[in-house]
Amino acid sequence: MGSHAEGLGLNDAGLLRQHALIGGQWCDADAGGRCEVRNPANAALLGTVPEMAAAETRRAIDAAHAAFPAWAGKTADARAQVLRDLHALMLEHQEDLARLLTAEQGKPLAEARGEITYSAGYLQWFAEQARRMDGEVIQSHAADKRLLTLRQPVGVVGMITPWNFPSAMLGRKLAPALAAGCTVVCKPALQTPFSALALGELAQRAGVPPGVINIVTGHDAAAIGAEMTGNPKLRKLSFTGSTAVGKTLMAQSAPDLKRLSLELGGNAPFIVFDDADLDAAVAGVIASKFRNTGQTCVCANRIFVQASVYAAFAEKLVAAVRQLRVGDGLQGETEQGPLIDAKALAKVEAHVADALANGARLAIGGQRHALGGTFYTPTVLLDADARMQLAQEETFGPVAPLFCFTTEADVIAQANATPFGLAGYFYTRDLARSWRVSEALQCGIVGINTGLISTEVAPFGGIKHSGFGREGGKDGLHDYTELKYVCVGGL
Ligand code: NAP
Repeated sequence: MGSHAEGLGLNDAGLLRQHALIGGQWCDADAGGRCEVRNPANAALLGTVPEMAAAETRRAIDAAHAAFPAWAGKTADARAQVLRDLHALMLEHQEDLARLLTAEQGKPLAEARGEITYSAGYLQWFAEQARRMDGEVIQSHAADKRLLTLRQPVGVVGMITPWNFPSAMLGRKLAPALAAGCTVVCKPALQTPFSALALGELAQRAGVPPGVINIVTGHDAAAIGAEMTGNPKLRKLSFTGSTAVGKTLMAQSAPDLKRLSLELGGNAPFIVFDDADLDAAVAGVIASKFRNTGQTCVCANRIFVQASVYAAFAEKLVAAVRQLRVGDGLQGETEQGPLIDAKALAKVEAHVADALANGARLAIGGQRHALGGTFYTPTVLLDADARMQLAQEETFGPVAPLFCFTTEADVIAQANATPFGLAGYFYTRDLARSWRVSEALQCGIVGINTGLISTEVAPFGGIKHSGFGREGGKDGLHDYTELKYVCVGGL
């Protein structure tokens, strides 16, 4: 196992954990099976993790349940101190964590370093928020009564996270849950478990007590999910991933009426009005569309450009896309890594083929990259329209389709013509339009004159088929609390 860590050039080989974490113990699967984890840039074997399923998940829930009273009973400051220590450890080991992340996920090292800072930021923010989990005293309706509210932790929380942000998607769930006094059972995506396991290792070093954070791995996600949704000791499930799996988990959670946070897929519109700073808008598309090789839930998926600036914008965008450097994220100055797997590559190819068959024009890219594997050339398509597959679902790859529009009303109608509602972006220099369009877009997050909107201090989440619940900001803590009303009589 040491040889894998050496191959990655980690300073601290102990961060490559190849066991699951249950009740403070690093363990194997009951039947001893293991799953391989490979680097998407070159298919090299990075290591293995235990092949666990329902029985181990049940034990992890039991461990979290046993640890809950003592963790919830600590003072807010005691919990905050542990979170602050974990934040500091993450930054201390940022380079190792980033290398692990790039090796298992493929994103360029610079993006991975940014993800570690972002993920750690949630621990710092919610350490601060832990101390503000206040209830209130309410003006009473009766002279002989006093009314108040308490915020209490929900209990044991299950967390299921995707492969595209293996550290941050867990950090932004763990931090508010632990701050609130909840204990957790996490199931990271099987393609990228090492970032989560490294967080588990650092959490132990930071003094998180046994059983407060449990991490199970295994390829049978449905079995692990079914145990989580069916187990009455687990009171809430927080899921980030596809809309289809989110709906399944919601249906499974109905019999036990579990609390849910669902951060699901998007289909973000990115609108360039004719009064926009076109160079800034191009930079915004590069940041939003091409981050993580187009594999983020808030990636611009449909780029709407007003007719009078369409040609000028397209020319500038193609020039910028031509500069993007494709390669192995661990090497050189890569800006575009590989796609996560062959299925992702096939979806990108299918979307491009469908668009071209339906009248789109290729401005640049449109094919696999010479590096082979799952590398795809950054692509711009012109004359996209609503009939194309790429207008209806996330492409999740480095393909920027440009749609044309004429009026503000026209583009609002086009932008909202999707069941999804996570992020939306637009570029304009008109103040009144900024308000109108922000209010009219049907989504949970709006970026005006920026392609980068994620931060731990603001609420992140969607509407419609993009789910519900908010992560980050002061609302992020409330999602892990119950609000209890206490009525004191007989005064
Ligand atoms: P996915 O297939 O839904 O997988 C997400 C997680 O769910 C993984 O851990 C997966 O495990 C697990 N899973 C799969 N089937 C399950 C089941 N039946 N029961 C319980 N868990 C199950 O999603 P993905 O395609 O890998 O991830 C990309 C999606 O996530 C995109 O749609 C993206 O937009 C969305 N996303 C949303 C946000 C947000 O904040 N809204 C953020 C990031 C990503 P395995 O890996 O073992 O299959």
